[in-house]
Amino acid sequence: MPIQSRWTVPIPQQSLQKWVFGSSFGPLPDRVTFVDADNPDTRSLTFSEYRLLSKRVALGLQKAGLAHGDRVLLFSGNSLFFPAVFMGVLMAGGIFTGASPAFGSMEFSHQLINSGARFVIAGKKNVLVALDAMERNGLLKANLYTFDDALSNVGGTSQHDINHWSALLANPEEAERFDWVEPSDPRASTCCLNYSSGTTGLAKGVEISHYAYIANGVACHFLEQQSPESRELLKTSKSLCFLPLYHAAGQTTFVANQPKLGVTTYIMPEYNFEKLLQHIQRFKITSLSAAPPIILNIAKSPLCAKYDLSSVRDVTCGTAPLSREVADETEQKLWPHGENFVRQGWGMTEITCAGLLWSTEDMQKSISVGEAVPNGQFKIMDGEREVTEPNKVGEIWYSGPTLMKGYWRNPKATADTIIEDGGVRWIKTGDLAYVDRFAPGAKVFIVDRVKELIKVRGFQVSPAELEGVLLDRKDIVDVGVVGVMVNGEEVPRAYVVKGADVSEREITKWLEGRVAKYKWLRGGVVFVDSIPKTLSGKILRRSLREMAKASDGKI
Ligand code: AMP
Repeated sequence: MPIQSRWTVPIPQQSLQKWVFGSSFGPLPDRVTFVDADNPDTRSLTFSEYRLLSKRVALGLQKAGLAHGDRVLLFSGNSLFFPAVFMGVLMAGGIFTGASPAFGSMEFSHQLINSGARFVIAGKKNVLVALDAMERNGLLKANLYTFDDALSNVGGTSQHDINHWSALLANPEEAERFDWVEPSDPRASTCCLNYSSGTTGLAKGVEISHYAYIANGVACHFLEQQSPESRELLKTSKSLCFLPLYHAAGQTTFVANQPKLGVTTYIMPEYNFEKLLQHIQRFKITSLSAAPPIILNIAKSPLCAKYDLSSVRDVTCGTAPLSREVADETEQKLWPHGENFVRQGWGMTEITCAGLLWSTEDMQKSISVGEAVPNGQFKIMDGEREVTEPNKVGEIWYSGPTLMKGYWRNPKATADTIIEDGGVRWIKTGDLAYVDRFAPGAKVFIVDRVKELIKVRGFQVSPAELEGVLLDRKDIVDVGVVGVMVNGEEVPRAYVVKGADVSEREITKWLEGRVAKYKWLRGGVVFVDSIPKTLSGKILRRSLREMAKASDGKI
């Protein structure tokens, strides 16, 4: 039997923007929602300014020609404007998609073409890559906007002459009167395409509906507000945003969930660990949503001793495995009297974000990632057979209202990943886990991953993508990429069959010129005579991982 969540909570049938703001018009609670952590005195947005800026984006996009269902691609690091672009696209009836600011031209082109984006808004460091990709793909430069003053045509004389994003914004008076149109069916209406390679292949657009996004929000809110004390504490919460906003984890938390709760978020335009510590001390940050490398830094870095971190009340960690030892060290540093625990959670882009999480009410010292969030359910599968014994490992199949509609314009990949059984849609997660018991409230322990996906510091790396790029070299006959452990971190390694004399260094250097830094072959290149494959030609990644395990001692 599947393990159901202990809780069922209602999910409003409305747009995400209505869930967050309540209405297009009328007064909103007077509170600061976002602050630029690097410029706190001059750059911030109250809750009503957040709504107004989003409406200015929405009306501006409509005036620029955005039609219902058009995609808008934001290619930027974190900024004060990011959440308003996200919400503005939705208010305009469009679909938001965000690209990693680490992407080069080839990676960005993939998302640009795959999403069929009509408009691109690019940050200062990304605009030239966006321009190059748009020109090479025959897309109109007129639909490119930038946050960069130097390259824009607003009062500038740049050779590139690109629209400044302020030219997109409708004037405030007009935007005040703008009323978004509610989707007739929030379950069917897509609000965003977050990119993920899923269990196999290249990055695909994960189609998330307004309904799924809200379902994720109400589930997270429920687990954070179960007691009167936790509700009270939330009123004075201040969080620091350093997780990337293009990724589901940062996006759902900071664009929707926390603003709705009334939390003030300090947005870091760029991640830097010492700055993160400075900001915690300066702004008296209470909540951190983090990925394991940041928790590791808090545990190990001597820099922590220089700063007062006593304001931090809660830390939530997901996106990749976190060891109990690292969690212990972090807890000792932040809460020497045992006041709290690092709260682990498990999620996936394909289920909007959170699937398993600890309730703040019954947190314990544990390596578990918690239990099914409200309205969610899961089962543990051994092939096609359901596991029914505690402590026995199998693949998690997950179901709930947060499940994606499917992969964007990719019915084959959708059918390979989502199984319909008795009217219930299950996603095969590719994650291996066991439970402590078979009952609602069961705690889940993630042990491994059976999918191709490599997670480097929480970022997705698709082996198929790196293999495709490497095979462009004439001197590489065949290649298989897998994740290996180096100094406790998962990193990509390429097993290469060479057809001519080529060195490991030539290959790694060459790749470095073509893909984002987190995808570099930090696990090295190993030359082999052949790549183990099935009869149908599929790479046997398990064999490669075993080879790595044998040569490195562990993976
Ligand atoms: P993404 O779609 O980028 O969020 O990646 C989802 C994948 O990240 C999951 O399927 C897991 O493989 C991995 N993941 C997320 N959270 C955890 C966690 N707490 N522990 C281990 N792996 C995790």
